[in-house]
Amino acid sequence: MQRIPLMDYVGRPVLACIFLALLWLQWRFPLRRQHFSVLHRLVRNFVLSIPGFAIVRLAMLPIPIAVAVWAHERRVGLLNWLAFPGWAAVILTFLMMDYAYWWWHWANHMIPIFWRFHNVHHTDLDLDVSTAARFHFGEMIFSIAFLSLAVILFGIGPIMLVAFFITFEAATLFHHSNWCLPIKLERILNLVLVTPRMHGIHHSIVQRETNSNWGTIFCWWDKLHRTLRRDIPQDAVTIGVAAYREEHELTLGKLFALPFRQQRPWRLPNGEEPERTVRSADELLE
Ligand SMILES: [Zn+2]
Repeated sequence: MQRIPLMDYVGRPVLACIFLALLWLQWRFPLRRQHFSVLHRLVRNFVLSIPGFAIVRLAMLPIPIAVAVWAHERRVGLLNWLAFPGWAAVILTFLMMDYAYWWWHWANHMIPIFWRFHNVHHTDLDLDVSTAARFHFGEMIFSIAFLSLAVILFGIGPIMLVAFFITFEAATLFHHSNWCLPIKLERILNLVLVTPRMHGIHHSIVQRETNSNWGTIFCWWDKLHRTLRRDIPQDAVTIGVAAYREEHELTLGKLFALPFRQQRPWRLPNGEEPERTVRSADELLE
């Protein structure tokens, strides 16, 4: 395995520390009431993520890095064509890549073949920092093509690609966590970043709520596309996918097989479409 020093010696230890810190914070200051065993979900999400982690390290990073080296040598891509000062190239890398990922997340919901895999992530019946690792390895394989294409188009350098990826993963851990930030602090953070309350709405069983808040690092893209929703209190959100509500249907084996099975329409097991009914006193982001 070829070494990626920035990922192996900086990224991985930093991300592990952030994961542990968020695990403690969400245990100490929980945001949403959890309905299922934390330990059970932690183990399940961790095991489910093992093939995905392997693919990230063996292909999803090395292939786009090789593409980035090639693009740099051949002067291909936006940042290689235009001579930006270093600081501007850094800012542009983060903005362009995060915006590209907004579209990729949108595609993962809207394009049926991609949704089959992304559905596995959304079927988690509670939402916490371990959900950030719960991705079917198939989604990672598709991501290789997406990431390589973005790198060529934007002319992202290999170091910047890895730096972006580490930040992207840290943001993913943060906004999936069940950490109850003081509402005033979260409102300030949410002027720039995707926060746990904002992303919690994206994991709702109500479809029009799931079809909002697609951002990963910055919240601006959802503002731009008018897909930003901050009007739902967290204790009114039921986490999950409407048609997959039974724990015994979401065991490890069934989750790995889920993309290859017939997909159920967005209906509750009783056939009804989930609607928001609960009124709540929980404070809103907006
Ligand atoms: Zn999603």
